[in-house]
Amino acid sequence: MIASFGALMRTFLICSFLLVGTFLSAQQFDVVLEGGRVMDPETGLDAVRNVGLRDGKIAKISASTLEGRRVIRATGLVVSPGFIDLHQHAQDLASQRVKAFDGVTTALEMEIGASDTAQFLKSKEGHSLIHYGTTASHVAARALVFGEPLQDGTILPKSGKATEAAATPEQIERIQQRLRDEIDAGALGVGMGIQYVPGATRLEVIDMFRVAAERKLPVYTHMRSAGRVEPGSAIESVEEVIGAAAITGAPLHIVHINSTCLRDSLECISLIEGARARGLDVTTEAYPYIAGMTAINSAVFNPGWREKLGIDYGDLVLPDTGEHLTKERFEELHSSSKQQWVLIFANTQQIVDAIIPNPLVMIASDGLESHPRNAGTYSRVLAQYVRDKKTLTLMEALRKMTLMPAQMLERSTPVGRQKGRLQEGADADIVVFDPLTISDRSTFAKPMEPSVGVKYLLVRGSVVIDDGKMLPEVFPGRAIVGPGKK
Ligand SMILES: [Zn+2]
Repeated sequence: MIASFGALMRTFLICSFLLVGTFLSAQQFDVVLEGGRVMDPETGLDAVRNVGLRDGKIAKISASTLEGRRVIRATGLVVSPGFIDLHQHAQDLASQRVKAFDGVTTALEMEIGASDTAQFLKSKEGHSLIHYGTTASHVAARALVFGEPLQDGTILPKSGKATEAAATPEQIERIQQRLRDEIDAGALGVGMGIQYVPGATRLEVIDMFRVAAERKLPVYTHMRSAGRVEPGSAIESVEEVIGAAAITGAPLHIVHINSTCLRDSLECISLIEGARARGLDVTTEAYPYIAGMTAINSAVFNPGWREKLGIDYGDLVLPDTGEHLTKERFEELHSSSKQQWVLIFANTQQIVDAIIPNPLVMIASDGLESHPRNAGTYSRVLAQYVRDKKTLTLMEALRKMTLMPAQMLERSTPVGRQKGRLQEGADADIVVFDPLTISDRSTFAKPMEPSVGVKYLLVRGSVVIDDGKMLPEVFPGRAIVGPGKK
């Protein structure tokens, strides 16, 4: 009797233990971010909370204590959605590392687009720190149809017959078909570097917007021209792409309004405001630097560039050596088939300071090695505009880096709705940073210096930066693809 009572008790205790165990494991999270200042630009949440992550998602946000297999103390730190960079060219691991230290959890090649979507996605599968994706490249499709396909890894053509010539109607159809095939391979929209292919007529541009519109995808564009000289001003260029968006219905994202519109940047933004007030879906972005950078043998430097940009040879600087160019040196490099990046000092700090806080402007880096924007864009905005100049609140700055680009991404894929939010159910792409110390350290002399102040970075719930140090061999980044990919 006593023995059997004992056995009963044991069974009862074991059952209770199992029940409690089940209850505990249901409440236990993979990672808990404890006691940080949790900020979500969509709901306006800005409070000390604990964040429980499970299976790559944000499972719980609570004022109560949460149990986690790993608990990260975030007291005094900001817990924000990871930054989404819509405009990142350099996609190698070295660049992904500096992006991560700058708070970026998703970096997409949307401006120009990779020259081969399937190859791009395949090359990154399983070894990407952060999420990646691309648009379908009009420039590359055009080069292919003109019989001068871009070399592996390059995204811009050398200025020449193929970039200057108008396409025939038959060639335009083939370019459109290539874009459709790229969308079927997973591209997130159409990328158009119109200034790199000045031979593209207004009608060709509209025909490419038509492809985006038929697939209900956006067009990202580096516009046809820069500066004030008419015809061919930045204002005319904005009119061209807003016109194409109005005619076709494709959503339009104008990249780096700063480096295209220069002294007329605020005017360009007012044109975008006008288009939006008339119901058009037009958005824009900028990076916080006075210099641009591009390939010196590209069509950007076709005759007339000095008048257009209002600069001279000496305002062009080679990033690796700091050499200011002369007429002779420029001509040598412009005619070379070897691609050489060149910094273009064409903007003023005053203009950049006026653009970055504008509520319509998202932050995007146009990241490339050799320019400090690759490594420092996001930290620089937080340091200079939020902390020093105080022309942006922290929440407004985070909105420009998280929610706004996520909403842009929603034009391409429902995955966008899971990004850029610090909310239950959203993807656990999170940056934890010190708002008092976050700073860029990259300079024109040392463009790849990583930013400081990001203490933790999580991608799909995996810790990538741990207490300020990058973990080796962690590759949680995934492809973000458009609706065309089966
Ligand atoms: Zn560009």
